[in-house]
Amino acid sequence: TPVLQMRDAAFGYGATQVIADVTLTIDPGEVVAILGPNGAGKSTLVKGLVGLTDQLAGSVHVLGSDLAELEPGRIGYVPQRHTLATSVRATVAEIVAIGRLRFRTWWRPWRRDAEGDRQAVARVLDLVGLGDRVGSDVAQLSGGQQRRVLIARALASSPDLLIMDEPTAGVDTANQIVLARVLEKLATAGTTQLIVTHELDALAEVITRVIVVDDGHITFDGAPDDYATQG
Ligand code: ADP
Ligand code: ADP
Repeated sequence: TPVLQMRDAAFGYGATQVIADVTLTIDPGEVVAILGPNGAGKSTLVKGLVGLTDQLAGSVHVLGSDLAELEPGRIGYVPQRHTLATSVRATVAEIVAIGRLRFRTWWRPWRRDAEGDRQAVARVLDLVGLGDRVGSDVAQLSGGQQRRVLIARALASSPDLLIMDEPTAGVDTANQIVLARVLEKLATAGTTQLIVTHELDALAEVITRVIVVDDGHITFDGAPDDYATQG
């Protein structure tokens, strides 16, 4: 079963269609870069998969389930902008545990599996290299570290698809390298990834496929090498 299957999908905001005619299939283990100019619709496309923009046409299936009926937590999402530095005071562990909400039974939300949560939080923080910052105040971390906290939060529900909107943007070179290593580690573990980025070079080791969005349409879909020789 493909992780993601879109047929003639369109996304936008209310009646405003931003992106249309998206037909694509993403198989398990693929690491897809979504490239394109500012305003092309990249964010709108990936936000549509997590309910932040509206699906206006076509069909979207994730592991065979219609997007509208998808269980929460099957898709992990790392937003482009975040307010971790200025929002309420919270520890790294508390932020990451938010990603575990999928595992709370809806009829008894207070009955969480505290030990399961603790183990999962420790596991995903190790994965992003922040195992020693579990109890740190998240506002005290650097921008690159905060980005990794958000990746850990997205991974805490063991998603089948990890979506990241510009994970390396606004991060210094040293932290870009750290982030690229994290994505490589996830790829090695078989995590299917959809990454909106302007920094293909920084992620060259990990990307298996390139999709270019321009003016609301997919204008290229192929191997990174073919993209390099075309562009
Ligand atoms: P990209 O991620 O490629 O830079 P976006 O998906 O952010 O592009 O934006 C694509 C288009 O959608 C732009 O024309 C933008 O103005 C429009 N857009 C973005 N957010 C909204 C919104 N909340 N309501 C209406 N239009 C929006
Ligand atoms: P992101 O957080 O992914 O950058 P935003 O929704 O904040 O997405 O905005 C993306 C782009 O869409 C920005 O250029 C913004 O100015 C534009 N935009 C946001 N809201 C609207 C809107 N209601 N109508 C038109 N453009 C919008």
